[in-house]
Amino acid sequence: MKIQVFTDFDGTITERDTLVHLLDKYVGGNWYEIEDRVDDGSLSEEQGLRQEIALLTAPFEEALASVLDEVPVDSGFSEFAAYCESKGWPLSILSGGLKPLIAAVMEAQGLSHLPLYANDLTFEDDGRWRVIPATTPRINKLCNHCKSWWLAESLDPVIYIGDGTTDRCPGARADLLFAKGSLADWCEREKVAHVRWEKFEEILAWLSGLRGEAWLDTLTAP
Ligand SMILES: [Mg+2]
Ligand SMILES: [Zn+2]
Repeated sequence: MKIQVFTDFDGTITERDTLVHLLDKYVGGNWYEIEDRVDDGSLSEEQGLRQEIALLTAPFEEALASVLDEVPVDSGFSEFAAYCESKGWPLSILSGGLKPLIAAVMEAQGLSHLPLYANDLTFEDDGRWRVIPATTPRINKLCNHCKSWWLAESLDPVIYIGDGTTDRCPGARADLLFAKGSLADWCEREKVAHVRWEKFEEILAWLSGLRGEAWLDTLTAP
């Protein structure tokens, strides 16, 4: 059976959030005030992202080099991608981050062929970064890049993998959700069915083992 697999990028494929890394490194602590206003609802996710990205003035090549050097990628992700390919399960990356950064990390992993949907990036005349928000239609108006739109397009069963706030919307719609970090805590509070994970090798072991077989059986049951 064909399964569509969607994964978040920051904190999921990478072990830390690449935007948090860049903001901490090049801006310092005051960007957290913006994040707090997104959390308490006084700024939308899109406004928050616009304001945070506008704080960055570092040359892109330098920022990219720092991400490639200092933000580790989950060591089991390549093998997981190969497993999906061997099963004929399309694997796509859905991110609330910046496409040029993600594309470079995936290229360094030899995985630039994976479909990638995220926000884009351009630069002001004075060198400040400017986010170009994803134009994906929003199923949930509160989302910036509403990842659920990609899930809703799928006619096949969906696996979703994530770790954070922007994964709640698609995670709650998936047929099978792998959750870690604050997403897993939210799932527990809200009673959203999920499988807790920390490393991609655990997801691979789950899917290729008895629990994965039992789950696949539920999809084909009459
Ligand atoms: Mg994330
Ligand atoms: Zn959404």
